[in-house]
Amino acid sequence: MTESMLDTVLSQFHQAADQLGLSDDHRETMTAFKTVFHTQFPVARDDGSFDIFEGYRVHHNVARGPAKGGIRYAPMVSLDEVKALAMLMTWKSAVVNIPFGGAKGGVIVDPATLSTNELRNLTRRFTTEMVPIIGPDSDIPAPDMGTNAQVMAWIMDTYSMARGYTVPGVVTGKPVSLGGSAGRQDATGRGLSYVLQEHLRDSGGVQGKRIAVQGFGNVGSVVAKLLQQEGALITYIADKDIALHNPAGVDAGAAAAYLAQGHSLPQWYEDQHPACDPVPLDSVLIADVDVIVPAAIEHVLTEENAGLVKAPLVLEGANGPTSQGADAIFKERGITVIPDILANAGGVTVSYFEWVQARQYVRWTEERVNEELRRLITSAYQTICARQQSSRGQATLRDAASWIGIERVVEATELRGIFP
Ligand code: GLU
Repeated sequence: MTESMLDTVLSQFHQAADQLGLSDDHRETMTAFKTVFHTQFPVARDDGSFDIFEGYRVHHNVARGPAKGGIRYAPMVSLDEVKALAMLMTWKSAVVNIPFGGAKGGVIVDPATLSTNELRNLTRRFTTEMVPIIGPDSDIPAPDMGTNAQVMAWIMDTYSMARGYTVPGVVTGKPVSLGGSAGRQDATGRGLSYVLQEHLRDSGGVQGKRIAVQGFGNVGSVVAKLLQQEGALITYIADKDIALHNPAGVDAGAAAAYLAQGHSLPQWYEDQHPACDPVPLDSVLIADVDVIVPAAIEHVLTEENAGLVKAPLVLEGANGPTSQGADAIFKERGITVIPDILANAGGVTVSYFEWVQARQYVRWTEERVNEELRRLITSAYQTICARQQSSRGQATLRDAASWIGIERVVEATELRGIFP
């Protein structure tokens, strides 16, 4: 049987729990899901017909604060996947030490098959179903795969209609003109770039490093653009349809700018004739580069290709891109993995800044947002590195990040006690 993402996340947890010597009680508490919400709901189509869609919202653990996490619209969404992603959000918020628990949501749909009107209908109806469980003090959704600032605006409006007044703090990742935070759009990619800069600080920085980025959405395109600005050579970029290679560096900044106008990566290649060549999609993660950045979907690094990876460093832009088997192979081969719960935590970190701004009705400048992000994520990186080094090389960065995340949630649970 193939390993599901929930299998991976649970076995990562149990591995860390073994290393920490966590009690059975704590293991049970930490692997319990507080709320599992499942709904089937109708959406009116433009032609007057309607279809039933299926959606989920899961709160994993809220010991450290309100449940926080994105909503994805994708055909592969399942309850197990949403649970796995919710659990990762709990550890992620704890790792960067922001006062949130973990949540995730998803609807089984390919948003590309819906008109704008149908997408809005779907979002409004799904939000209406979720009104009893979301809220600025209880559960704050955000964008994820297949959703964006416009979808967050519709969620905010629908929730506000139900309450009878505007509630900007119910979602993050909103358009800036509606109380979204400056810098939120680029925050996940920017956080990845900060973490990589810090990791390579003593080995020449990112300047001249050859980097392969898989995924060219809101995470991949931004990290590629920002690392290029820092002097890295983005020798490979790829989305699900095309992979492009130039040993001297693909102009990722130009590609990102073209995509921001509503085009796709294949269109950029066809229309703009950039200096790069198409290569097989599966060559990107096994390319001869200094760093690979899987920033698309989960489980792209498995036991099948982990032995072929040539890069000494994996920077996880996506959630759960590495299977447990691949992780073990990387450890054995001495390949360093900077884990998702640290590397891609820039998004939720700036979501926290957005939530704080919404609740105080204040606006921060983009400079302040980026500076605070750099401070928080760099400090989390240093804490994790110090912890890993204290294990005298026995632990991976993922182990150390998991220990810190789990310990903080356990500590909050112990301090609060079990009700009643
Ligand atoms: N969806 C993003 C993640 O997986 C951001 C979540 C948030 O901002 O709440 O980390």
